[in-house]
Amino acid sequence: MKAVVYRGPHQVAIEDVPDPKIERPTDAIVRITSTNICGSDLHMYEGRTDFEQGRIFGHENLGVVQEVGPAVERIKPGDWVCLPFNVSCGHCVNCERGLTAFCLSANQPGIAGGAFGFADMGPWPGGQAEYLRVPWADFMSLKLPPDAAEKQTDYVMCADIFPTGWHATELAGMRPGDAVVIYGSGPVGLMAAHSAMIKGARSVMVVDCHPDRLKLAESIGAVAIDYSKEDPVQRVMDLTHGMGADVGCECVGYQCHDPAPHRHEHPNLTMNNLVSSVKFTGGIGVVGVFVPEDPGAQDELAKQGKIAFDWGKCWFKGQHIATGQCNVKAYNRQLRDLIDAGRAKPSFIVSHELKLDEAPDAYQHFDVREHGWTKVVLHPGV
Ligand SMILES: [Zn+2]
Ligand SMILES: [Zn+2]
Repeated sequence: MKAVVYRGPHQVAIEDVPDPKIERPTDAIVRITSTNICGSDLHMYEGRTDFEQGRIFGHENLGVVQEVGPAVERIKPGDWVCLPFNVSCGHCVNCERGLTAFCLSANQPGIAGGAFGFADMGPWPGGQAEYLRVPWADFMSLKLPPDAAEKQTDYVMCADIFPTGWHATELAGMRPGDAVVIYGSGPVGLMAAHSAMIKGARSVMVVDCHPDRLKLAESIGAVAIDYSKEDPVQRVMDLTHGMGADVGCECVGYQCHDPAPHRHEHPNLTMNNLVSSVKFTGGIGVVGVFVPEDPGAQDELAKQGKIAFDWGKCWFKGQHIATGQCNVKAYNRQLRDLIDAGRAKPSFIVSHELKLDEAPDAYQHFDVREHGWTKVVLHPGV
């Protein structure tokens, strides 16, 4: 089959690789029809991780079940399914508690959490390919309703970014009526904004410096704050009668940077701005990716996975912070049903639907945050 294979920093290639096979009785093989390029693919694409050359990218996957192992009971060939980016077993102590991002069966001993096509997240090949092997397929697969084929670009967002955006608001402790500030207007930040709207925020403020992304935030009723033009903390204060937002979401991660033209990486920028723009006793949810080590960083602390954080201010304000990857299965059924009912439409961020062959070109455009490239969906087999 054809697949998108990592070949070193800033290089991906479409290569012929062996078709995946049923390896355990609980496996399924899914024919992929939609698979997204994600911002976290870019960390690996840029060579900022130890992702091995030759591995297949792709952790946001949707398709049709092709074949199931003898122990699979709940899904059958022909079913449309969306797969969480987390690979998880369903029966370890963390999965039993719903913490599927921290499954103890999907990675090497001592590390919790697995994912398709991801550095340090277990051996699982990704789905930017014609077929994907899905382990623990009964537990993993989210079955889709009859409109799956026509609403693929919505349902595929249930693999990662829609639940992850939702998770940011949950980690922050958001409640209906809250004023919510979101740092980052990339796909996850926009999904956090979409989630906050659905959950009844009284206002949603989105901070970024890319006009195309801020425009999308405005298109769903959020207030766009361009931090290349104004001080985002001051603007949030002005919009909240000097109190600060009730809750804040970090949707940028360790590669946050000063605005263009310098784009100098500034790893503590969003966390400290969040502490300043969230109210006393407010909550902060951090879903942007941070890493334990970042040898490619420009700053000494960041190389060791550290930031100079306004801890004293955070403590003095009595804020709480919660972090980590999203447990996709904790939310994906409800989010699927919101899409099915027409109450959510996460595809509003999709800018490009392309063939698998076009992936190398798409990676280049998306990596430089070229204007208008907000979210790419690849359609293998088209
Ligand atoms: Zn993703
Ligand atoms: Zn598990």
